[in-house]
Amino acid sequence: AKRQGGSTFAVFEPRMEHDTREELALQTELREALARNELVLYYQPKMDARSGLITGVEALVRWHHPQRGLVMPGVFIPVAERFGLIGQLGDWVTEEACRQLAEWRSQGLRMRAAINMSAHQLRQDSLLPRLKQAMENHAIDPSQLTIEIIESVLMDDAAVRSFSGLASLGVGLSIDDFGIGYCNFALLRKLPVKQLKVDRSLFTDIQNSADARSVVTAIVQMAHALNLRVVAEGVETERQRDTLQALDCDEMQGFLFARPMPAEKLTLWAMEGET
Ligand code: C2E
Ligand code: CA
Ligand code: CA
Ligand code: CA
Repeated sequence: AKRQGGSTFAVFEPRMEHDTREELALQTELREALARNELVLYYQPKMDARSGLITGVEALVRWHHPQRGLVMPGVFIPVAERFGLIGQLGDWVTEEACRQLAEWRSQGLRMRAAINMSAHQLRQDSLLPRLKQAMENHAIDPSQLTIEIIESVLMDDAAVRSFSGLASLGVGLSIDDFGIGYCNFALLRKLPVKQLKVDRSLFTDIQNSADARSVVTAIVQMAHALNLRVVAEGVETERQRDTLQALDCDEMQGFLFARPMPAEKLTLWAMEGET
């Protein structure tokens, strides 16, 4: 026990240095990536739970790194937020999603897309004008866009204040990862939110767990009482799908239906009739 202090230092110091160097490297490379257009959006369909038809897609950002390969957002979004790059990254995502919606339109595909935004993005004054500009650039109707915002943003007053501006633009608002953090139906009732996305951690074991079914049932009933649509996200098995369908979820998204995929692949998938 006496040696713990010393060995703790010996173990942690180099690791912290390594992490910092790694983050700094990623930060520099991410700046370059934004300039060199190395980011790419993948799209995952959302399905209507009753008809089984595609209702739209969620855009999920990836980084085609020349050496590291495909880097996932869980790795670089936190870096972008820490080093002040999330605004620029978010602008790119918004512009690219609108450009893709316009491309789909030119191919005869009327699509809707959801993009993800963090609290930091919502607090930026430039958010509304940038979003408006991106939609105008590509003649996108605001009803084709939904902004997904993680539930914890509801604790951030400044971020919540941006909701009414977003809603007045005509874009849809969706609360992401609902039910794992701060779920507040009293607040939701006052906000112009249209959709709740129920996190998969709430229904992973739903076919075996009466508790899980009760939680999802309660969320669906309260959401419907407030005129909100419920999307179950991360649906992986047919049993999960069947149970969530029986519990009256409105939409579903997950590997069972399709993984996130590049735009060209999504185009084929949607045109082939979702097979
Ligand atoms: P999220 O918004 O909750 O996105 C859902 C994540 O679950 C995605 O991971 C998706 O690929 C994954 N997923 C979808 N279906 C399934 C399934 O059936 N099973 C499992 N296990 N996972 C599934 P991804 O693409 O790695 O994104 C991770 C997170 O990164 C997102 O979580 C979102 O918070 C963030 N993110 C992604 N794109 C953006 C972006 O453009 N801007 C911002 N600010 N954040 C983003
Ligand atoms: Ca999301
Ligand atoms: Ca989510
Ligand atoms: Ca998540």
